[in-house]
Amino acid sequence: MELRAPKGTADMLPETARAWERLQAAAAALFERYGYEPIYTPLFEHTELFARGIGEATDIVGKEMYTFDDRSGRSITLRPEGTAGVVRAAIEHALVPQGSVAKLYYAGPMFRYERPQKGRMRQFWQIGVELLGAAEPSADAEAVALLVRYFESVGLPRERMRLLVNSMGDERCRPAYRDAVAAHIRANADGLCEECRRRADTNPLRAFDCKNERCQAVMADAPRITDALCDECREHYEAVKRRLDALGIAYEEAPRLVRGLDYYTRTVFEVQAEGLGAQNAIGGGGRYDGLFATLGGARTPGLGFALGFERTLLALQAAGVEPGTSHGVAAYVAAVDESCRAAAFALAMALRDAGVAAELDHRARSLKAQFKHADKLGARVVVVLGPDELAAGQATVRDMETKEERKVALADVPSRVAALIG
Ligand code: AMP
Repeated sequence: MELRAPKGTADMLPETARAWERLQAAAAALFERYGYEPIYTPLFEHTELFARGIGEATDIVGKEMYTFDDRSGRSITLRPEGTAGVVRAAIEHALVPQGSVAKLYYAGPMFRYERPQKGRMRQFWQIGVELLGAAEPSADAEAVALLVRYFESVGLPRERMRLLVNSMGDERCRPAYRDAVAAHIRANADGLCEECRRRADTNPLRAFDCKNERCQAVMADAPRITDALCDECREHYEAVKRRLDALGIAYEEAPRLVRGLDYYTRTVFEVQAEGLGAQNAIGGGGRYDGLFATLGGARTPGLGFALGFERTLLALQAAGVEPGTSHGVAAYVAAVDESCRAAAFALAMALRDAGVAAELDHRARSLKAQFKHADKLGARVVVVLGPDELAAGQATVRDMETKEERKVALADVPSRVAALIG
C-alpha cells in the first residue's frame, strides 16, 4: 500500500490549518458586515446538477469531475464548485421568494481532477458568497468590492492585486457573439490546436482560455464581447463600472475574460495576485441570471464569487505576510520530578478550565527538556512544580519575556498567569 495522500491533495498540517481557520474567520467577520449568512451544502450532489448548471461543454464537467455511482446506482459527483449546490438549496428551500434577496456565504473543499501544479490541486479549499435575488448593478459592484476588501483585510497589499472585469452579455446578445467567435475559430483553424478547433462546435469562448501561445495569438484578434453587447447589457456593465469608479476601486477591463463556467451572464471578474506563476487567479466570480431557471427554479437573478485558499496563502507568502502562525499555547506547566507530575497535570487542567491555553509534558522528560518544549511552543509563562514548592502548596511562575520569577499559591496560579498574558 502506498502510504501517501492521493496526488493533488494535501494534508493541512497545523500551521496551514490555522491559516485556513484564520482566513475563514476573517471572511465570516467581513461578510457578515455586508449582510451575508453562512450556509453548508453537501460535498456531493447528483451529477446532473453540475452537468446542467456548469455546462456539459465546460472543462469542469467534461473532464474534471469526480463522478461515481453510489450503491443505488445513482450518479454522484463531488462538488467542483459551490454555486450550483447553493442555488439548488435556495430553490429546494425557497430561500429567495419572488422580490426578496438572500446573501449566503460558504467555505469548504472542492474537487476537480486537474493536472496538479503550484496553486492547482485536486482537492482545494474555497470561500465564496452568493447574492441571490438582486439584479441591480450596485449588487455586482458590491460583490466585486467585497472580494477586493477581503484580500485587503487579510493583509494582501492592494498593489499586488489586479482586478479584471468584463461583461459576457446575456441570452439575447451572447448567442450571436458565440457564433462570431466560432466563425473566427473556423477561419483560423490552421493556427489553432486541435482542442480549440473542436471548441468552434462545442464552446467557442473557451478558446480564450487556451494556454497554447499560437491559440492565444489567434484569439487576440477575435471579436470582442464588449463590441457585441446588447443595449441592456452595455448599460448594466457601464453602471457597474461607474459604481466601482465611485468607490475608487481600480480595475482593468478584460474583454477576453470569459471564466470557465457556462452559467455566467453579464458581469464577470477576477482578482489576480503577484508571485504565483501560471495559476495567478486567487478569486473570481460573476453574475448568473439564468442559473435558477436552468436548474428548474423560477427565474431569479444571482451573482457570487469564490476565492481559493491555497492560492491566497501563496499570494500572502509571496507578499511576505504571515498568515497567522502563532501557536496558541500561553502557559507551560513543568514538573521537576516524577513526584510532581500528578500535580502538574491537575494544574494544567485548572489553567485550561480558567481559559488559559496550557500545555505540559506527557513523556516524563527532564526539566531542561520541558523548558525547551515550552520555548518551542512559544509559551509566555512557565509554571514550575518542584517537591519543595508542592510541599508548601506553591508553584514558581516564570515570565519567559521578563525572566521574572515568583512563588505563587497553587490556587492563585491561574489568575497570576492570566494577569501575565494579559
Ligand atoms: P473558479 O471556481 O474556477 O471560478 O475558481 C475560483 C477560485 O478557486 C480561483 O480563483 C482559485 O483561487 C481557486 N481554484 C480553482 N481551481 C483550483 C484548483 N484546482 N486548485 C486550487 N485552487 C483552485
